[in-house]
Amino acid sequence: MSRPSGQTLLLAAAIAGSFVVAGYLLVFGQGGTPAPRTAINSRLSLADIPFDGQRAYGYLNQLCDIGRRPSGSPGMEEQQKLLKDHFEKLGGKVEMQKYRVRHPQTGEPVSMANLVVRWHPERRERILLCAHYDTRPFPDRDPVNPRGTFIGANDGASGTAILMEMAHHMAELPGRLGVDFALFDGEEFVFEEGDPYFIGAEYFAREYAGTRHPYRYRYGVLLDLVGDKNLQIYPDSHSMSWSDTRPLVQQIWGTARRLGVHEFSLRGRYDIRDDHIPLHNIGGIPCCDIIDFDYPYWHTEADVPANCSALTLAKVGWVVQEWLQQAVRK
Ligand SMILES: [Zn+2]
Repeated sequence: MSRPSGQTLLLAAAIAGSFVVAGYLLVFGQGGTPAPRTAINSRLSLADIPFDGQRAYGYLNQLCDIGRRPSGSPGMEEQQKLLKDHFEKLGGKVEMQKYRVRHPQTGEPVSMANLVVRWHPERRERILLCAHYDTRPFPDRDPVNPRGTFIGANDGASGTAILMEMAHHMAELPGRLGVDFALFDGEEFVFEEGDPYFIGAEYFAREYAGTRHPYRYRYGVLLDLVGDKNLQIYPDSHSMSWSDTRPLVQQIWGTARRLGVHEFSLRGRYDIRDDHIPLHNIGGIPCCDIIDFDYPYWHTEADVPANCSALTLAKVGWVVQEWLQQAVRK
């Protein structure tokens, strides 16, 4: 996830109210009042939720135990082996979509790969569930040690861990829709302001748009920063402004409301640039972003498992899983 060019995010028309957190201009709708930070906790516990948040949190820890996992690093390679093995054991068909980019600082070639897992590959109408799995090279917003070690428990591992848990339920997915998981590399191979973001998602979107595939994606759902133990999820203003994507946002947030996961709120929105933008604008895939941008440890050394929780992973995973179960029946 990144900022648009310039230091602040753009104010979308029709949205009133704004405030600055962590150097970003966050924008909220509805009468100009920013949504209160802790107003929307549900009373759900792990025992209420039929999505194994504890196991997902175990996966998040397993990924973080590898250490830093930026594009082209030994940690990324180890992570790729772990994930390939995990998804194949559960019956997924894993493809590594490989490409090379120039290192933004040294100019040397860097090998990257999106990891794509196909479930029920014969089904032509498909849903894309995605996240980025690379971690930022350095915790450059860390107040003490901006050249220290960044392991990305929330920013990198959280979305991946939810997909690892969802994988347990994919082989028996009913209906006529297939599902692809895509884990994007190069989401933030960023050393300095101005280095390109979204490399993996853009590659994926171009490949999808430029190739005659026997399938098409009906919807895409991006998971990013979905592990914060203080969870709050607002829609982003891009997803809400795209007429082909707004119904998807309404379905997912409606599912959350039905389940009592009140941390999903439609009472505000963020203007966030993330991997869903190339997927939508280049790939033509109606794709929304499930992101909790309000994370105090964003791009710091404190983005560690202790600042994430099993309960949060359970809540987000349950909403997506439930929405998916409904979507595949239609
Ligand atoms: Zn990040």
